[in-house]
Amino acid sequence: MRIIEHFVNGKSFPGSSKKTSDVFNPATGEVSAKVNLATKKDVDDVVAIASKAFLTWSQVPPLQRARILFKFKELIEKNSDELTKIIVSEHGKVYDDAKGSLTRGLEVVEFACGIPHLLKGEFTENVGTNVDSWSIRQPLGVCAGITPFNFPAMVPMWMFPLAIACGNTFILKPSEKDPSCSIKLAQLLKEAGLPDGVFNVVNGDKESVDALLSNPNISAISFVGSTPIAKYIYENAAKFEKRVQALGGAKNHCVVMPDADLDQAVAGLMGAAYGSAGERCMAQSVAVAVGNIADELVDKLAKEVNNLKVGPGLDKGMDMGPLVTAQHLEKVTSYVDLGVKEGAKLVVDGRKIKKPQGHEKGFYLGGCLFDHVKENMRIYKEEIFGPVLSVVRAKNFNEALDLINKHEFGNGVSIFTRDGNSARTFSSHIKVGMVGVNIPIPVPMAFHSFGGWKRSLFGDQNVHGMEGVRFYTKLKTITSRWPSGIKATSNFTMPTMN
Ligand code: NAD
Repeated sequence: MRIIEHFVNGKSFPGSSKKTSDVFNPATGEVSAKVNLATKKDVDDVVAIASKAFLTWSQVPPLQRARILFKFKELIEKNSDELTKIIVSEHGKVYDDAKGSLTRGLEVVEFACGIPHLLKGEFTENVGTNVDSWSIRQPLGVCAGITPFNFPAMVPMWMFPLAIACGNTFILKPSEKDPSCSIKLAQLLKEAGLPDGVFNVVNGDKESVDALLSNPNISAISFVGSTPIAKYIYENAAKFEKRVQALGGAKNHCVVMPDADLDQAVAGLMGAAYGSAGERCMAQSVAVAVGNIADELVDKLAKEVNNLKVGPGLDKGMDMGPLVTAQHLEKVTSYVDLGVKEGAKLVVDGRKIKKPQGHEKGFYLGGCLFDHVKENMRIYKEEIFGPVLSVVRAKNFNEALDLINKHEFGNGVSIFTRDGNSARTFSSHIKVGMVGVNIPIPVPMAFHSFGGWKRSLFGDQNVHGMEGVRFYTKLKTITSRWPSGIKATSNFTMPTMN
């Protein structure tokens, strides 16, 4: 059986624990590897290595750091097929989708390559007579990233390229469900010339996360995952006096106005609801049909959902792969059972899917479509994280807006309309962090920043873009005067310009 170790100080590291976790190939249902789970001592040892590496890495000029990232970018491009296949083999998503997610991660590397420009400070000459003042951004120290299973390349790449570009060292704790991609990225960083100890991967479960949270030599924690764990990370990182950004779960709505181009809305909804088998934090899991458009929308969606091609992610022409684990499949299926019990109309039942030949033990679920979903149902209120789309009917625009604004999550949202005023009013009044107008998945590009509102993000700074640079640096402002021959006098009042 293949054993997945940690990657520490530029090489593979087995760790001291006998504890492992199974890694599955979701397409076949078979265990493909076992991943070692780190102990607190393992984590503390890695933090000591990353702390030492920080002393030299933080002094490397930004241009030289950028040159390593340029090389890393080239290596990702060269190895993109292998990286994509690793994602597919442990996550299950289809090849093109996996490749797209890798590209979105790569874009953050491209952004981070501009670090010499991004780190430029501000200078004011003569803030007082013969006194100058300037602000600079300095790295924090050792930063840690704790990431979810659904984007094993992209989400870690939201974090570490900018963190190390800013002069920090980094410890990544990827999801134990699909850890291999992080190890490959670590090997590529080494090949690109990154000094040992600057980027490390520690595999583990709650024990390793708790060890990262409590270690006094970790300065900042970036987390992406479910809301209960995001809240736990936020509270505990703050308790141990760390900077923290903790991105949580979602329930993303797509409002379809009566004047929308319905075919465009249906095409957008299909990809956004069922792409990656709905295992995306920006998946659209609720379609809000406004006014008299609902019946036609549901008919068109049902036709498409019934035609979804579900199979192994490496097979050509598939729309959707399996879910990540048997446990997750059971969870999502139980939500479909629940929706029926709660009284929603199950228009398309993906539970009946015939599993692909030779893959009978794979974790497949077909696309599911509910109509007449109500605000008080658990299938509406809770994140399902699978290929399940709920249609909620709203009488008018204001009802749709209120519905979304009352929801506990506020990650992404879209509106499909031909009316500029509806789009503008919606964008202005919606309490959600990322908004699409006739765009189904409004994931911001790397040079903007990603993050939700309400219980979809705990903390102050979003990830990547300038918010990312601010998160991974602290501001220092220096005010200086040089002897100029003017006689110095003591002044016991607050210094002012008067
Ligand atoms: P998860 O919360 O179960 O796990 C995320 C990370 O936390 C993993 O590394 C895991 O090992 C660790 N973890 C799990 N339980 C823990 C515990 N009790 N104590 C400490 N650490 C723990 O999330 P997941 O199932 O891997 O990923 C899916 C979730 O991530 C969904 O809720 C999805 O919406 C969310 N997500 C959010 C975003 C976003 O940008 N907001 C992006 C991607 C995924």
